[in-house]
Amino acid sequence: MEINLVSDTVTRPNQEMLQAMFHAKVGDDVFKQDPTVNEFETKVAHLFGMEAALFFPSGTMANQTAIKLHTNPGDQIICDKWTHIHLYESGGASSNSGVNFNLLDGERGIITAEQVEEGINDPNFYHMPLSKLVCIENTTNKGGGACYELEELHKIKRVCVKHNLKYHLDGARLWNAMVAKNQSPNQYGELFDSISVCFSKGLGCPVGSVLLSDKETIVRALRVRKIFGGNMRQSGYLAAAGIYALENNIAKLADDHRRARELESKLASCSWIEKVEPVETNIIVFTPKSFVSDAVVIEKLKQKNIHISLLGKGKLRIVTHLDYKEVMHTYVLEVLEKMSF
Ligand SMILES: *Cc1c(COP(=O)(O)O)cnc(C)c1O
Repeated sequence: MEINLVSDTVTRPNQEMLQAMFHAKVGDDVFKQDPTVNEFETKVAHLFGMEAALFFPSGTMANQTAIKLHTNPGDQIICDKWTHIHLYESGGASSNSGVNFNLLDGERGIITAEQVEEGINDPNFYHMPLSKLVCIENTTNKGGGACYELEELHKIKRVCVKHNLKYHLDGARLWNAMVAKNQSPNQYGELFDSISVCFSKGLGCPVGSVLLSDKETIVRALRVRKIFGGNMRQSGYLAAAGIYALENNIAKLADDHRRARELESKLASCSWIEKVEPVETNIIVFTPKSFVSDAVVIEKLKQKNIHISLLGKGKLRIVTHLDYKEVMHTYVLEVLEKMSF
């Protein structure tokens, strides 16, 4: 039994999801003639109370498309220093859209309305880049799955409206945030100009993300997706997995969160651990004491068929997911209980 806790992207479709994919009615989505993709996009848009949606091969491409739609070359994006769009999209924002960043010093990837307002350049002071877009990440990836309070997101929205900025949400793990905080998709749909959500993480699909926005923006997004090479043909097979996930896998995220909290308490009781960051969703970040090297922790767990990842600066990361079952969880808790250095 191999237990992969490196990421929630390692899940594989179960038999039922594969059956849904197998039986999908498909067409050529480049002509917008794939009925399953059309149904999927409509479903996700309705769920969020937004006008339109577009299916993408990856979350990166959905985010990059949003950036391209909301900015002109030379403009500035305001976001936290740890955001995926800045750190993990291979410089795409500057390469694809010619934009630059004002990186705010948030707390676990979470920024405040006050920080955003302070970070806006005076549009009349033409020496500085024009502030154009605020990007929020919820839950935060590098921030260890931390979630925003809706109240703060509303405050940031008011700053955006006041200063004429666009407001994008990288919601790769928004499903986790909504389950953890008992929020509904509508509460996000009414706030943001655009939202990207992933289906290939906690929801267990093999591929895919969706970008949500108003009709006009999604029509423009179709062209940008084409430019990025993200058009797909019989992608209904993939959209069918998405529809299955919407109906079956959202509620299961609560199990991932419970197991993550149980791992948090177990780790906190280990004598060789310095610190476990507060667990809010499915990501656990922890730091071993200085006499224990993180590489040795990884190696010892690997010998027990448990795989976790290195975050850097002495931090390690565990991510729970749909394919991390109760038997595995019991085993991991036992291994941690017995581990010593
Ligand atoms: C995973 C992730 C993405 C998108 O990743 P893809 O691998 O391109 O689907 C975007 N933002 C965050 C915060 C993520 O964790």
